[in-house]
Formats: sequence, C-alpha cells, structure tokens
Amino acid sequence: MALENGGIFGSHPLDRAGIHRNNQDWMAQKLTAAESLVLPIYHGRPFVLPPRAPGQGRELGFVRLSMLETYVNQGMPLVFLGMDDKDRAYFAMDLSGAGDVRRQGPLAELGKFEDGRALAMELPDGDPAMLAQALALFNWHSTHGFCAKCGAQTVMADAGYKRDCPSCGAEHFPRTDPVVIMLATNGDKALLGRGKGFPDGMFSALAGFVEHGETLEEAVAREVEEEAGIKVRRVSYFQTQPWPYPYSLMIGCYAEAANEEIVLGDDELEEARWVDRGTIIDVIEGRGDGSLWVPPPMAIAHHLIRNWAFGD
Ligand SMILES: [Zn+2]
Repeated sequence: MALENGGIFGSHPLDRAGIHRNNQDWMAQKLTAAESLVLPIYHGRPFVLPPRAPGQGRELGFVRLSMLETYVNQGMPLVFLGMDDKDRAYFAMDLSGAGDVRRQGPLAELGKFEDGRALAMELPDGDPAMLAQALALFNWHSTHGFCAKCGAQTVMADAGYKRDCPSCGAEHFPRTDPVVIMLATNGDKALLGRGKGFPDGMFSALAGFVEHGETLEEAVAREVEEEAGIKVRRVSYFQTQPWPYPYSLMIGCYAEAANEEIVLGDDELEEARWVDRGTIIDVIEGRGDGSLWVPPPMAIAHHLIRNWAFGD
C-alpha cells in the first residue's frame, strides 16, 4: 500500500477529469462508449468480483456500463469517477433503489456486494480510493435530496459533483468533513484512548471534528484537552486519509503534551492512558497479551501510532 500518499483510501489511480463533468456532449459519449466501466454499489456495499485465478486477490467489480443499461434507463444515481490511461471512463452507480440486484438481473451470480471496510485491505492499490470516492459521493447524495435554502427537491448535476435546486436556483456541492486524529506524546509515551463502544482492549489515537473558524492545530489542541485534560504545545502534520463513512477526511497529527495528568472530560472516552513505546511495539508486532491492541492497518490511527513507535 502506498501509505505515503494518504493511507489505504488514498492513491487514486484515475484522472478525475473534472473539467469534463459539466460537458454534456462529452459525458453522453462516455455513457454510451462500449469500453466505459461502472462500479455497482448496493446499500453502501461495492460489487466485488471473485479472484481471476486461484491465489489471486479480489478486486472491485467494475463491469461494462452497457450491461447495466436497464438501471441507467431507470435513472439510478450514476457518478463519474474519472479516466484511466487507456482513455476509458469509470463510473459508479447506486443500485439501492433497483430492487434486490443480488438475486435478480445481470449482476446476480457474477459477484457479491460486500462491506468496503472489511474488504479494503484485500483490494489492489488504487481500488480503495475509487471506492472512497464513490461511497462518499453516494452517501452525500442520498442525504441531500432537498434544497437547504428553500426545501424543494434537488437534482444531481455535473456527473454527480453538484445538486441543483430547480425552484430557487441554489447549487449544492458535495461536502467533506475534516476530522483531526492525533497522537499526543510525552517523551517515550503516547496517549491512547478507548471510545465508548470500541471492541474490548482496543485503544486508539484521539480524534474529533474540526470546527468552523478553527485551524487544524487548534482543533488538535482543543480535542486533546476536552477529551483527556492534556494541554499540547506543539502540533505537527503526519498524513491524511479519506474515510467515506459518510464523507470525512482524516487528518493525522502529532501533538507534544505539556502535562501528564489525564482528566477525562467530554464523555467521549471510556478510558485514556499513557502507553510506553516498548509496549506499543510489542502490540504492533503481535507480542501483546490481548489486553491492549491498536486499530488494524486500514486505519490511519494504526500508521500514526506505528510511525511514532518505530520512528520511521
Ligand atoms: Zn432551493
């Protein structure tokens, strides 16, 4: 995985070709081109094809767009993902409103619809980024069907990158929610917390939404103090990771702690503790006793913690 480019949902392989999104002639040509591909999504689950050969991994189930013509004609939501280097267009289609497409129609028997989170680590590089793009867009469309200004029903435009209000003329654009996720450190110890509802023994970096009128550094400092009573004096950037549940961008940071005493504050954490580097290394290398573990590699938290522990 090309983690340096932004974690498992990063490293997008396509040219997003944004300049063509509102070119209706160009888009109409791509929608009818024989080589155009589409990723079907059903209730938030992407279509997945079985391995091409024994021992090979699975991959996202892009199929010919012409195969889903019935659903195109039914007006199922369709968004443009981009172009590959062979000039093929890639789309994604939300089939949630098309009946049980798992059992009926052209996709039945061909593959399966699976949870993207469980699947992401198995996919080839680039697939999770296309999945993140499609899922986040559909998550946004499915919850923004009405105009926030006048309440009228809105319609998808620009191949999925806008919703227009025919009543008052307002334009609505897909939103991304920035979330800071930070590892506060104090010398050779890092602050790990357990959110309510975490699986038994899982500890992670702290996280929270960035508020309006706030820098990332301020958001990091505020969240660490609110959640654990720790003040921070220096914040540095690590990397980001798209997280399409529903449409966030996780912004990984480090924060140098100015005090050590933990005071749980805003009711988000069940427990927080300072964990020394050696313990974290043991846990990541599988020598832990199971009483404490950190999120798996598909989460930016894993890399934030690992990168600090191993200093790489
Ligand atoms: Zn309106």
